[in-house]
Amino acid sequence: MQHGSRTLTILGATGSIGASTLDVVARHPGRYRVFALTAHRQADALVALCLRHAPRYAVLGEPAAAQEVRARLAAAGSATEVLCGQAALEQVAADPEVDTVMAAIVGAAGLGAAVAAARAGKRILLANKESLVMAGEVFLHACREGGATVLPIDSEHNAVFQCLPAGQRTGAAAAGVRRILLTASGGPFRRASAAEMALATPEQACAHPNWSMGRKISVDSATMMNKGLELIEASYLFGLPEARLDVLVHPQSIVHSMVEYEDGSMLAQLGNPDMRTPIAHALAHPERIDSGVAPLSLTAIGRLEFEAPDLQRFPCLGLARQALRGGGAAPCVLNAANEVAVAAFLERALRFTDIARVADAALQAIGSRAAGADVDEVRDIDREARACARGQLTRCTA
Ligand code: NAD
Ligand code: MG
Repeated sequence: MQHGSRTLTILGATGSIGASTLDVVARHPGRYRVFALTAHRQADALVALCLRHAPRYAVLGEPAAAQEVRARLAAAGSATEVLCGQAALEQVAADPEVDTVMAAIVGAAGLGAAVAAARAGKRILLANKESLVMAGEVFLHACREGGATVLPIDSEHNAVFQCLPAGQRTGAAAAGVRRILLTASGGPFRRASAAEMALATPEQACAHPNWSMGRKISVDSATMMNKGLELIEASYLFGLPEARLDVLVHPQSIVHSMVEYEDGSMLAQLGNPDMRTPIAHALAHPERIDSGVAPLSLTAIGRLEFEAPDLQRFPCLGLARQALRGGGAAPCVLNAANEVAVAAFLERALRFTDIARVADAALQAIGSRAAGADVDEVRDIDREARACARGQLTRCTA
């Protein structure tokens, strides 16, 4: 398959990762064929993408948006067929014509399609870290059963993947790895006081210094819950326990992560902070293709700095470690409560610093339950954790 063309489904095509993926794809005409593009309800954006990339299918989450896209594509003479709903997402993720699935839906909503791709043995380019956090065992089991391959898109995990020896990437301990160090920019509040953080607005929280991303992950970066979710993601992807995963604040976002070996060697992957690099890496792996990212100039950057994270001002990091050590349902509960709290913060119904409080309360209440054994059980825990978190919202705002 190495030199043949690949057939792609892009889940979450209208998002930030979706746009970067289509940008790389468009640089390599003939190499990638777009089979399906999906979006939740952004009709305008999906119509434009369909007219440009002419997929076989377009899938929307909302019937009204699907109807609109269908009418507009038909009027434009497009042959793209428009589908709607969860079953359609799973269908285009598992279609026999597709070999590669970019999983770039944000949040728990991406789980069903990611698992469908896993069961169907696809090459999964995994951006949707939340599905791994909420259902790590279930998702990896589906990958093993279906014969699927996971290529990490999260820049840190993609960096670690590149620094691990081929063939030993899912069991890093056996490869002589002592620790994995995930780098973090520190987000927009790296230097903010606790008092400033308590008053932070969604606009401030979404103004990331180095990366341009969707709103949910931008808030997660500001609380550093994103790095917490990434600790859990790394543990599942590379098979290392919590104690062997470290976080290092690196404000320049040039070193995307590091692997420390038993012999004292530390391998790092460097590059400009642009998601097209990990996306191009995963799209072409094991080959290398142009991503459109400017070459890194270390003389222009001048210096690379590293510091320990402040666990006092960023309690979400500690919560994620607690959830990872506790195991069971805890990561799923943490993820669900965080999604509820972040959505409330973005609607100005919750203070920034209460995001951690809501997640903590849900973890304490139901985090010690057993992990869900299948997708349905995971969804039950997710639903209960959301209800629990919503109860906390009223308490925080009262
Ligand atoms: P985004 O908000 O820009 O885009 C999300 C996409 O998912 C959109 O296409 C949207 O239509 C779709 N979507 C949202 N809710 C949905 C639902 N209920 N059902 C179906 N589709 C839905 O998000 P993003 O920044 O592109 O992030 C996508 C994923 O990639 C997240 O899991 C995020 O953590 C991860 N990620 C993003 C970046 C980045 O730089 N943006 C980096 C690393 C990891
Ligand atoms: Mg990341």
